Amino acid sequence: MATQAELLATAEKLGREKFLPRAAAYDREGRFPTENYADLREAGFLGLVIPTRYGGMGVDYTRYMEISAELGRWCGATALTFNMHCATMMWSSQMADDLEMTDAQREAHEKCRTGIYRMVIEDGALFAQPFSEPNSAAAAGRAPFGTTARKVDGGWLVNGRKHFASLAGAADYYGVLCTEAKEDSDGDVKDTIYLAVNGKAEGFNISGEWDVLGMRATSSNNLELIDVFVPDEHQMMPRGKYYQAALNWPHMFMTLCPTYMGIAQAAFDFTCQYLRGEIEGGPPAGSARHSPAKQMAVAEMRIKLEQARALFQTAIGEAGVNPDKDVRLRAYAAQFTVMEFANDICRLALRTCGGRAIFRTLRLEQLYRDSRCGSLMLPWTPEICMERLGRESLFEPGER
Ligand SMILES: Cc1cc2nc3c(=O)[nH]c(=O)nc-3n(C[C@H](O)[C@H](O)[C@H](O)COP(=O)(O)OP(=O)(O)OC[C@H]3O[C@@H](n4cnc5c(N)ncnc54)[C@H](O)[C@@H]3O)c2cc1C
Repeated sequence: MATQAELLATAEKLGREKFLPRAAAYDREGRFPTENYADLREAGFLGLVIPTRYGGMGVDYTRYMEISAELGRWCGATALTFNMHCATMMWSSQMADDLEMTDAQREAHEKCRTGIYRMVIEDGALFAQPFSEPNSAAAAGRAPFGTTARKVDGGWLVNGRKHFASLAGAADYYGVLCTEAKEDSDGDVKDTIYLAVNGKAEGFNISGEWDVLGMRATSSNNLELIDVFVPDEHQMMPRGKYYQAALNWPHMFMTLCPTYMGIAQAAFDFTCQYLRGEIEGGPPAGSARHSPAKQMAVAEMRIKLEQARALFQTAIGEAGVNPDKDVRLRAYAAQFTVMEFANDICRLALRTCGGRAIFRTLRLEQLYRDSRCGSLMLPWTPEICMERLGRESLFEPGER
């Protein structure tokens, strides 16, 4: 089994030699990084977090988060979209293992996930994770999903709309969160069902433009599902278990943040190289790095980077089922810090490098645009993290 140091070295090599040289073209053309995925597939990374007993690499949550940050250093769109695949695999494996299930549920889940992991390991299947909907209260965890799944013979019939579905058109399967349609209920968050929809299924359509400010290569288009049939064996978690995971394994929602940790590191590295005259296409080494003002700005960037990295490492190291209150609040603080500081570090980088760094021939302006998207990601946006941090620091459960 590969060590963490070996996997990080592979991620760095792929990033430096393959992803970085391709990143500008993907961004300019708004094109999905298909070639990067061929490299990830060849390196066995589609099975990165799948347990070894199913043929995967068995990387746990903490190690995955470090590897994801390394990928984000070289191509944000690749790291962010790859996270949708890896998070889908993790939710159904290590997180599901930590949840309470009856023997029958455990047995049925085992059968489903064995088939799903086989598709990934043997056929190279790629999974997207579209949960966001135009009514964002559902993705924020405050309302049932508008997309519904009705039980029928041998499977489910899915109807609804998703937006911001990264990997649209590139994924083979879409891990869709739906509300189970019941005769006697208008829908309840506890009735969330998690299903893998085949991208070639009848009634499944991709729509809308994805011509955006940042993360342009993520292909995050809309999905429309009209009476899409999903067989029972493509149920990603037993009934009610997504709801339980969201309550008991909260760090499951932090997996979007390593991409932005990587972007923050990249902006800092760029700034130092730029001021040292080491960036191809940038100015030669000159007096810039002797400027006390630039040195102070670089110091400020480094302090923010160290703060973000320290909190990130602590939070991912203590992730697990049923964390205590401090651990959970620290995860919100880490998410807030990484997402906000990544953009702030990019802002400082642009101001410090100066006008000659805004050219599209250099990487910094793309890092700046990509970093802006971090704080837009539900369910743990900065506002939601702040709201929970404030309220839960002042009130214990049940207090008013
Ligand atoms: C590049 C990119 C890729 C994405 N990929 C995916 C993907 O693969 N799958 C997926 O499911 N989604 C994805 N998303 C979607 C993302 O998670 C959001 O759902 C999306 O940005 C739409 O949110 P909004 O800003 O329109 O929502 P809004 O609800 O309008 O949010 C705007 C602001 O209001 C605040 N807010 C919203 N609801 C609450 C609340 N209940 N309480 C307090 N504050 C609140 C938020 O903090 C947010 O900053 C992606 C987004 C981006 C930018």
